[in-house]
Amino acid sequence: MRIHLVNPSDLSFGMAVITPRWLFVLAAATPERYGEPHLVDETLERFMPDQVSAGDVVGIGIHTGNALRGYEIGREARARGAKVVFGGIHATLYPDEVRERGAADAVVSGDGDLVWPAVLADCEAGHPRPLYEGGRVDGGQFVPARWDLLPSGRYMWASVQTVRGCPKHCSFCSVWRTDGQTPRNRHTDAVIGEIVELRRRGFRFIALADDNFYPVSQADLAQAARLKDPTRLRQLEELRADRFALMAQLARLPADTVFFTQITMEAAEDPEFLDAMRAAHIKGALVGVESVTPEGLKAVFKNFNLAGDALATRLRAFKDRGVHVLGSFIFGLPTDKPDTFEATATVAERAGITFAQFVMLTPFPGTIDFDKWERSFGEEIPTVDGVPITRHWLIPAARRPKFFMPHPTMAPDEIRSRTQGVWDRFYGVRQIWERSRCVSSIKARLAFVLVSKLYRQMYANTGISTDSARRSTSVRWARWLSKPCQRLFAGKPMPDLQVPG
Ligand code: SF4
Repeated sequence: MRIHLVNPSDLSFGMAVITPRWLFVLAAATPERYGEPHLVDETLERFMPDQVSAGDVVGIGIHTGNALRGYEIGREARARGAKVVFGGIHATLYPDEVRERGAADAVVSGDGDLVWPAVLADCEAGHPRPLYEGGRVDGGQFVPARWDLLPSGRYMWASVQTVRGCPKHCSFCSVWRTDGQTPRNRHTDAVIGEIVELRRRGFRFIALADDNFYPVSQADLAQAARLKDPTRLRQLEELRADRFALMAQLARLPADTVFFTQITMEAAEDPEFLDAMRAAHIKGALVGVESVTPEGLKAVFKNFNLAGDALATRLRAFKDRGVHVLGSFIFGLPTDKPDTFEATATVAERAGITFAQFVMLTPFPGTIDFDKWERSFGEEIPTVDGVPITRHWLIPAARRPKFFMPHPTMAPDEIRSRTQGVWDRFYGVRQIWERSRCVSSIKARLAFVLVSKLYRQMYANTGISTDSARRSTSVRWARWLSKPCQRLFAGKPMPDLQVPG
């Protein structure tokens, strides 16, 4: 019985930016007696069904964006006599759909870290259960990844998780509902152990793939103090102290290590935290800005962000403390107007953001926005090729609309083309060259241009464009650009590196 673990993707670039961590975690959770699991990351290359034999187990992890491709793989594997097991956020939300469309024998909901060996044992016995509840595994029990199974020279960044869960409740995000609102911090020693192993293997750039690296804000502490809630205050202080303890250990790793993470904008008003991040070699962070207007922020339940000039100042605080920002903006909010697009591009430039992504509001299952949107149709749900648009991920990509949310004043295509316009403006060669001043040498500046262009090709043109020729050109460009970029990110293996004492 061979174990195959597949990360589905419609697009294969031959090279990928970040390692899909779950593949290597489940590989580690696979008991030795089943032999070495066979890992397939389709962002590198396609899954080949003929590698599967009757009696094998094929584990497929899906989120909404790659569910349709995952179902295709599930059916192919089942047709070859394999036991098919699905997991991931989308499988957790729609277990029945996964069984029906993906020919699943079993579905794992929640975290797979601890329940995976039981799933395999039942498959081996020929009687997998339809559903396994993985639940929310405690931070101390997260399984470390099997980095010895990484194919060499195919990924630019490795990924290590330090915390799961986010205490916020943004309306477009499902993380706080699926991973929970109580942050589950991982033990510092386990995190450092994995990072040291990755550095030994030559990874210098590592993403801290957390839901929210800053789970306790100054406002949370102040509120607990105001409410005179000593238990809550102590919990928050402990969580915060844990983050500082982790960062103190990260700071002891080799000085050329580069970490990147995701945090909320509130961290900008916490200079002590930003200084600790910088000392810990956390040189970049994805910050969900979402909207540059107060009305837009209110619409997505993100009132804790600032708008306008205050927003630009707050974002600059990251850069001033040495943390580069990848700003994430959403277009298509009901409060957006045609001039919001220009205003957003201007704020992004004025705030000194190093990278940016501009996404169109999409109702993803598991979110408040999705529930509201689905309810708004009542019994009259429009369809595309017979598929209700409230199951938009089941519409083949070529036929899938790019924008679903009704907007009071703008047509979907106007929102799409204006979004594309902002990507074009932010990633124009002149603008990228200007931003490349964040590094000093000409060589580093050229590398910055290359990486910016790759980012744009991978994430903008392939996702937003309705033109299939433009999408194919982007994939070709991304394939071509990714090779030199991978070499830029690769570090020298440090086989003798020890865990800091
Ligand atoms: S968008 Fe970010 S801050 Fe908001 S709930 Fe999701 S993970 Fe938390």
